[in-house]
Amino acid sequence: MKKPVKPQLINILLVTDNDHDRAAFKQLSATHPGEYSISGYDCPQDAIATGIKEYCAFDVIVINHHPPDLDGLDFCRKILALPVPLPLVFLASGGQEKAAVEALEAGATDYLIKDPYDAYLEILPFVLDRAVANHRDGRVREDTVLSLFENQDRLFHIVEGITIPTFVIDKNHIVTNWNLACANLTGVPAAEVIGTRQQWRAFYDTERPVMADLIVDDVMEELVKKHYGGKFYRSKTIAEAFEAEDFFPHFGTAGKWLYFTAAPLRDSRGEICGAIETLQDVSDRRKAELALKESERLYRELSITDGLTRLYNSRHFFGRAREEIERCNRYTSPLSLILLDVDNFKVFNDSYGHIDGDRVLAGLANVIRDEIRGVDSAYRYGGEEFIVLFPETEPEEASIVAERIRQSFEQTTFSPKAGICVNMTISIGGGNYRKGEDLTSFVRRIDEAMYEAKRLGRNRVVFVE
Ligand code: GH3
Ligand code: MG
Ligand code: MG
Repeated sequence: MKKPVKPQLINILLVTDNDHDRAAFKQLSATHPGEYSISGYDCPQDAIATGIKEYCAFDVIVINHHPPDLDGLDFCRKILALPVPLPLVFLASGGQEKAAVEALEAGATDYLIKDPYDAYLEILPFVLDRAVANHRDGRVREDTVLSLFENQDRLFHIVEGITIPTFVIDKNHIVTNWNLACANLTGVPAAEVIGTRQQWRAFYDTERPVMADLIVDDVMEELVKKHYGGKFYRSKTIAEAFEAEDFFPHFGTAGKWLYFTAAPLRDSRGEICGAIETLQDVSDRRKAELALKESERLYRELSITDGLTRLYNSRHFFGRAREEIERCNRYTSPLSLILLDVDNFKVFNDSYGHIDGDRVLAGLANVIRDEIRGVDSAYRYGGEEFIVLFPETEPEEASIVAERIRQSFEQTTFSPKAGICVNMTISIGGGNYRKGEDLTSFVRRIDEAMYEAKRLGRNRVVFVE
């Protein structure tokens, strides 16, 4: 067998608990001066604990099978899982051929079966030289290995050091980083999730992709839509990133709103090699928005409501009436209006006082509310005057409602003083909107109808054409 040309000294990391092996390798370096340098560890655990700088100084690792503890096979797998593995030669004794095959399957470069006569030492230099030569051909330079590790280290510290909850997954959806802020927010410690595909557990009850998973799969917008409904956006600041906001009911005591952004990580060839996702607890902002919306709604309601009767106020009447008139003019649909005024209210006030007078007004408001439909709207127009707008309603129908209100109010009893019962009445004017008429003229016409009711003796309904 012809030995390959040896380019330089071969540094061997020998991992063995066996004096016989050590003696054999010592002999190898003695018989080949300047060709082999041998350093060693007694057990794989010590070898694994070796710093990466030291690891990179070797050209080849020779590992003796160490059953039954952390054995050579396990060591092989760990070494070979490193981003730039060194060539690895597996030493097995006779009878351990199965382990040797498994080592090859795990990625070992070669194996040697030891024999009682140390005949294997004859082929050892060849095996070592070939392993190193092959490896050197495609070997990434040590500084590249180092910088790769330094980059990984730097990434770890960057992700760990930022206060924004962040996690990173690789192209196989395995979590590689899960910073402290992320652990604090989700309540899931890094140790539970790094190295797994269990990132969904932090957010959902059942297994489903998180945003970063969809990014890694380079999914089309359709799939993002499927999982995030209408709640996602393409990021305006980060290329190819998606953002979404959602409520997570099991976070904290009352659930949390999270805003999350997931962006792809690409390798030097531009291919997606993972994704980074950042989370933001926006519950406080959400709460403030809801409170603001609610106070705006309340303010708007107050601004159009009469405090005493809880009916709409006159300002709102003018707005709504103009809208209804516009609709009538456009679609020629009917619009009826009634105006109600309490009869002899001054007398009641003078007899029993303003506060009991207010009770009468509130009582009338209740009667009106009870008698009208949801589409009709009632307003306190002035002191003791009320208006009801009946959209899409002919005057015949509106006059029926007006009559019902009149009767119902007439039957309502007020007791301003103990032992005294008073029944009040109202006069009602009503009519239909005439196409092209302005609001002031319309109201004036109905007001005149109401005064006609007064003139005719009060407690009645008068509708005008
Ligand atoms: P008529 O049958 O002609 O309508 O007689 P009236 O006494 O009701 O008419 P008038 O317009 O002369 O009097 C209305 C009274 O309504 C005067 C005022 O004291 C009273 N009033 C107006 N607004 C309120 C209010 O908010 N509360 C109370 N208690 N009284 C009010
Ligand atoms: Mg009046
Ligand atoms: Mg009156």
